[in-house]
Amino acid sequence: FILWSPFIQVFKKHRYPWIQLAGHQGNFHAGEAGSVLKKLDAREQKCFQRLMTDSLKDFVPEYRGNVEKNGETYIQLQDLLASFTQPCVMDVKMGVRTYLEAELEKARKSPTLRKDMYQKMIEVDSNAPTKEEHQQKAVTKPRYMQWRDEMSSSTELGFRVEGIKKTDGSSTKDFKKTKSRENIVDIISSFVASNEAIAAKYIKKLKEIMAAQESSSFFRSHEVVGSSLLFVHDAEENVGVWMIDFGKTESLPGDKTLDHRSQWQEGNREDGYLFGLDNVISIFEEVHTG
Ligand code: ATP
Ligand code: MG
Ligand code: MG
Repeated sequence: FILWSPFIQVFKKHRYPWIQLAGHQGNFHAGEAGSVLKKLDAREQKCFQRLMTDSLKDFVPEYRGNVEKNGETYIQLQDLLASFTQPCVMDVKMGVRTYLEAELEKARKSPTLRKDMYQKMIEVDSNAPTKEEHQQKAVTKPRYMQWRDEMSSSTELGFRVEGIKKTDGSSTKDFKKTKSRENIVDIISSFVASNEAIAAKYIKKLKEIMAAQESSSFFRSHEVVGSSLLFVHDAEENVGVWMIDFGKTESLPGDKTLDHRSQWQEGNREDGYLFGLDNVISIFEEVHTG
């Protein structure tokens, strides 16, 4: 592969380029034509298996089994970019928080201090760490993630833009401090290049996804954290939106269910996914009507 920028990875093997807007680069490889390989995570694999028989099936990449490569196991997924010509891509991470309740609990019991996360924190805001964290030159993982959620639009709006690649090849991942609705309207408007037809198609797709989620037994019975919506369109006005990344999607005990809209209080496991999707749709509607 060649690197366009620190985070855009392109597999030359394919007719079309592979674009990766988030995650560790080493986690992905080119699969057979039309597929991508993502490093296996047991929780994510289980989700994809269940999703293949759920009403959300058409809104997630097809799961095509596992593949061994250099002693590592990968899940093979449909490459969502395969049917597009020079696609524009946007990754939007959904929900009001990006850590599981289980992670929070674990950190409380045995806090692992992360120097790398402390470094990332002070690079963005040197005043963010507490006195104690400054002394330790380290923070815990949920503390870091909580801070990132508050810095961005996640806590307030229930989603954040993780990365965008436009047709001209330009790309940005620099949305860490993008928080206000106003700024996001500008970002989305620029992503669709003020194309009304594309914006309208996105709104239709988003409403279809929401309807499918609201009637999905998988969605109802899972805490969906750190999962993204992948937005893809091209100059021919082909438009698609899919749910990706189920590494932190966890099934709820017994017959517990979530509505994904109620406010999160530790213990209720609500993730604010649909609260965020309401906001995403309303922002696209604002972009569409101007
Ligand atoms: P993180 O947890 O940091 O968000 P991750 O390692 O779990 O990352 P994903 O979020 O699943 O990885 O994917 C990273 C990026 O790879 C996405 O932003 C998207 O650009 C691309 N990608 C992932 N899955 C697909 C797919 N099936 N088809 C096309 N592109 C994909
Ligand atoms: Mg992701
Ligand atoms: Mg992930």
